[in-house]
Amino acid sequence: MAKRLNLLGVKVITSSPIQKVEENQLTLGPGRVLPYDVLIWTAGVRGSRFLNPDVFPLDKKKALVVDKYLRVKGFKDIFAVGDNASTGVPWTASKAEADGKVAANNILADIRGGRMKEHRPFDPPFIIPTGKNWAAAKIGSIIFWGRIASILKDLTLLYYLLSILPVGKAWKAWWGGECEVLEIKKPAT
Ligand SMILES: Cc1cc2nc3c(=O)[nH]c(=O)nc-3n(C[C@H](O)[C@H](O)[C@H](O)COP(=O)(O)OP(=O)(O)OC[C@H]3O[C@@H](n4cnc5c(N)ncnc54)[C@H](O)[C@@H]3O)c2cc1C
Repeated sequence: MAKRLNLLGVKVITSSPIQKVEENQLTLGPGRVLPYDVLIWTAGVRGSRFLNPDVFPLDKKKALVVDKYLRVKGFKDIFAVGDNASTGVPWTASKAEADGKVAANNILADIRGGRMKEHRPFDPPFIIPTGKNWAAAKIGSIIFWGRIASILKDLTLLYYLLSILPVGKAWKAWWGGECEVLEIKKPAT
């Protein structure tokens, strides 16, 4: 990813935590001040501040500690899913969806007296598009990049659109390029 971004004119600086952000500049360390006009802050996520640590068991990312049925530890009638549930799986839409199905099943089982399902930790696939026709993908332990990963990203988008729209509309949105990744052009220097 760093090489690709470099080719596109983006300089990647690692191991340099931001110490201070001001209106037009940020400080990385003594004597390392960078000017900026647009700053996009992507410094990670944490659980909701709604979750009071005096009431709920929270992990270090402030997500609810759950048992194998996604029930919040110590609470019989509270289930947690997605970004709120500490299951060891990275916080993604696919985790939220998978958790949702398990929790819904278990709430029903609890009400009707059926068998509860255990949630299964999994390694969600990642595809990161970087400009038109290029992406990097990690599926299980396999990592690949380039046009093939980009085609896989396009197919994943079609699959997703088909899951939320009627076939005709999904196809139109996909084929018509409504959700296309924008081309990134290296700025002229
Ligand atoms: C910028 C960004 C990009 C992302 N890109 C991807 C991606 O490409 N692929 C991917 O798989 N994942 C991606 N994610 C992660 C993904 O969006 C989350 O993991 C997923 O949405 C979690 O689902 P959730 O249902 O747990 O929470 P959410 O989708 O955050 O839903 C929580 C809901 O609860 C509501 N809420 C909050 N507080 C309260 C309250 N007090 N009372 C009532 N309602 C409340 C919120 O308004 C929200 O609607 C991205 C996340 C971010 C922030």
